[in-house]
Amino acid sequence: MKGLIERAASDLINSKRAIALTGAGISTESGIPDFRGPKGIWTTDKEAEAKAYERYELFLRDPKSYWEEMLGEKGTHGAFYNEVRKAEPNPGHYALAELEKLGIVKCVITQNIDGLHPKAGSKNVIEYHGSVHKLRCPSCGSRCGFEEVSLEKLPPYCKCGGVMKYDVVHFKEPIPFDVMNEAEKEALECDLMLICGTSAVVYPFASLPRAAKLGRRTSGTIIEINAEPTPLTREGISDYLIQGKTGEVLPQVVEAVRRWRLNRD
Ligand SMILES: [Zn+2]
Repeated sequence: MKGLIERAASDLINSKRAIALTGAGISTESGIPDFRGPKGIWTTDKEAEAKAYERYELFLRDPKSYWEEMLGEKGTHGAFYNEVRKAEPNPGHYALAELEKLGIVKCVITQNIDGLHPKAGSKNVIEYHGSVHKLRCPSCGSRCGFEEVSLEKLPPYCKCGGVMKYDVVHFKEPIPFDVMNEAEKEALECDLMLICGTSAVVYPFASLPRAAKLGRRTSGTIIEINAEPTPLTREGISDYLIQGKTGEVLPQVVEAVRRWRLNRD
């Protein structure tokens, strides 16, 4: 693994536009429960899974009930969101924020809704599936924090008159246009993609590494950091895999980057 960490550090230093893609694997180390693992929320609670599939339709049909459920006044989903909101970043999140401060990683595109990248200090973050810390108006696309709206009367309304929902993208809900366009642009323009803790099988997010690989004029590097090989490894989308926990591997990569720079200067 040591050799691969050095290789990643060298590739990162030589890149002009590196970006990171992250998924559930980077957040499980912060105690965020997963959904489909052996002890996942939906593996153990089929009713919760069925409800999750209907949540977006519930918002469209009956936004008041949707909000009551989301805030935990009805059902158990609110408790999960509250737990996620309290989570703290781990060394993997801090390492990516550090790579941005060093001027190497230009952007983080995450599937996670926990807001841990901004919390760790990453500035340019695209939250592909939204954030538990924000509300969004599907009519005009604007977002705001919970401190900016009153939840005394449900549902909350946007200034444009639209009904607001959680920024989190639910099942069957389209990915917001701004997020999808920005992410695609970043994937096409990058010359290095660092994929951390995700097997990238859920579309349309899964199209990003493929776009980076296939849609590019000059060749770039795609590096995976994951506990196990993924379809990206097997399909040859990634150039190499550093197998391990993101919270352990990423800080070592940062350390190697610093060493390389020191030796070069
Ligand atoms: Zn609006």
